[in-house]
Amino acid sequence: MIISLYIIFSALLGSFLASFIYRYVNKNIEADAYVESINIYTEPSFCPTCKTKIDWYHLIPVLSYLFLRGKAKCCGATISSKYFLTEILVISSFSLIFITNDSWGLILFKSFISLTLIFIALIDYQYKIIPLSSLLILFILALILSALEGLFMLPEIFVAIISGFLLLATRWLFFKLKGKEALGLGDVILFPILTLMIPMTLVPILLLTASLLGILEFFLSSKLKRDSEIAFGFHLAIASYLGLVNFYPILPLI
Ligand SMILES: [Zn+2]
Repeated sequence: MIISLYIIFSALLGSFLASFIYRYVNKNIEADAYVESINIYTEPSFCPTCKTKIDWYHLIPVLSYLFLRGKAKCCGATISSKYFLTEILVISSFSLIFITNDSWGLILFKSFISLTLIFIALIDYQYKIIPLSSLLILFILALILSALEGLFMLPEIFVAIISGFLLLATRWLFFKLKGKEALGLGDVILFPILTLMIPMTLVPILLLTASLLGILEFFLSSKLKRDSEIAFGFHLAIASYLGLVNFYPILPLI
């Protein structure tokens, strides 16, 4: 019963996130004239193609997309599968957090963190940028989670600061040697925030996992002849999510 309610809750947030990403990207990155003219937080849902307001019964997460067979009711335009896939992604990520955590405080905070991570990952993957506002929200949520998990202690904070400087040094070194940016400033800010949410013994594993995922993408994209610029923030977000669902074994590194 509770899991069904939680899935409905996650589906609603998934639907919100899918529409918010569309609005955020079109206002701040793509500079779409219509989206720039509206208030992206209060404007009711509208069709991305003909801008007609959408009736509430066509806004049911996942089901509306399936029922309408991916076509907008107003103008017949194809609805991008990105909305549907984002909803599925949020539902799956929330469900996994629900299964792998036992206290409601942890489940709720980790769910909101995973929502922010999905926002960061999807925007970074496509546009290679991490919005500063999302980093600020993540920072606040990470501080609260760190306190809830009893990790908000001086050595942990010290490790977070060192991690930031380590990435900053890597960025500087790469720039000196290769003359181009290998790491964005967004990644340099994101990494220390993520370290706040895990025990410091797992920080090297977080970095290693994100790097391995990045290397994997690099080889896959050069095979597929796609542009080989790696969105490291995307991989950091995935590696951090694995920590939220307690994927990493606590290694006896101490
Ligand atoms: Zn339409």
